[in-house]
Amino acid sequence: MSAASYTLLADDVLTLDAHGTHHTPGAVGIEGARISYVGPPPKAPTGTVVRLEGCVLLPGLINVHTHTPMWLFRGLTEDVPRGEWLAGRMRPLEARVGPRELRAGGLAGCLEMLLGGVTTIADRYRAMGDVADAIEASGLRAVVAHSLYDEGAERGLRDTESLLERFGADPERSRVWVGLGPHATDTCGPALLGEVAVLAQRSGARVFIHLAQSEAEVAAVRARGHAGCAAYLDALGLLGPTVVVAHGTYLADDEADLVGRRRTAVAHCPSSNAKLEGRVAPVARMRQAGAVVGLGTDAACCNNGMDLFAEMRMAGLLNKVAADDPTLFPAADLLRMVTSDAAAALGIEHLVGSLETGKRADVIAVDKRSAHMQPWHDPVANLVYAARGSDVRAVFVDGQPLVLDRHPVRLDAERILADAVQAAGALAPVAVGR
Ligand SMILES: [Zn+2]
Repeated sequence: MSAASYTLLADDVLTLDAHGTHHTPGAVGIEGARISYVGPPPKAPTGTVVRLEGCVLLPGLINVHTHTPMWLFRGLTEDVPRGEWLAGRMRPLEARVGPRELRAGGLAGCLEMLLGGVTTIADRYRAMGDVADAIEASGLRAVVAHSLYDEGAERGLRDTESLLERFGADPERSRVWVGLGPHATDTCGPALLGEVAVLAQRSGARVFIHLAQSEAEVAAVRARGHAGCAAYLDALGLLGPTVVVAHGTYLADDEADLVGRRRTAVAHCPSSNAKLEGRVAPVARMRQAGAVVGLGTDAACCNNGMDLFAEMRMAGLLNKVAADDPTLFPAADLLRMVTSDAAAALGIEHLVGSLETGKRADVIAVDKRSAHMQPWHDPVANLVYAARGSDVRAVFVDGQPLVLDRHPVRLDAERILADAVQAAGALAPVAVGR
């Protein structure tokens, strides 16, 4: 395929580079998979000119914690008492779906995110070999991790090895690459986590794990004689910049400090934590201590959507309330948590997360003409607190147009939704406690 080139012309370009450079009006040039130009509109634009009047261009958004196949379960686990969600509600539902359904749900989840301006995801679940097919077909950039548990650990590790053989662990070489996905600190004992640490060393893959996401998890780890979930990971060498921990909802202060001190990457999922646990994770404390924080939506049945604009707003509001301080989590920081900081959390900041010449051309155009996006006094505040996923008009990943005029270019949305809704249809009678 010959490398296509484009010039995107828009009212504004927010680069999210280190200086926060903003061009009004602005342009982004694309050559093949890379950004070839960022600046004011050039006198002689090259390639196909895409006029995005009324739009602001941004780096594509990065969702650092998702489970795309769980799209199928949206609306089946509502207002569940604390501690019952995972074991009591999710497991019976999960027992009813196989690889075909998971692939259909995964593709629908990818479609939902692409239409909302997400260009990179960190996805993890069961049957990731099948789900990865869907993710690859969607055109998204993704790190995929097959969930590992003590139960069935050997098979899980074998499945992880096959994913590694297929995609590798290097985001420079493959748009879909592999992470290691031990499920959580209660469901993974020291033997399995030790194997994960060795495999991480050998393959260079990042480790993705849920951390202190429930009171039961903390109690289980303490019953094993550890001070807490973070101390347990630390003793195994599994805190640090190449480990992405999700949630940390029930971390004590000293544990949150430890996560930060090790410069661990943290996936903060504020709406999921609020809806499933009624809690705000101590992410301000982790960040203060040195953690790199990106935002995740978690699964569509946790919050109940995969819109990173909604997640930025929620992260700002909940953390201001938790800290009793409206100056914390300023809008500029929140926007970085879905772009440059999120890229750093996944170790891909040299590739994406800002609009800079030489980086991969993951670019989105957000329409700023609707009533809820005007006036345009403060572009960053509007994007964080006023914008919605449905304001996204165009999405490019690796220089390929995936959404134009709010419609998917490559995916057949009607068919994908019909398949996924059918796969979800058999589940409603299984929803417990309704
Ligand atoms: Zn999760």
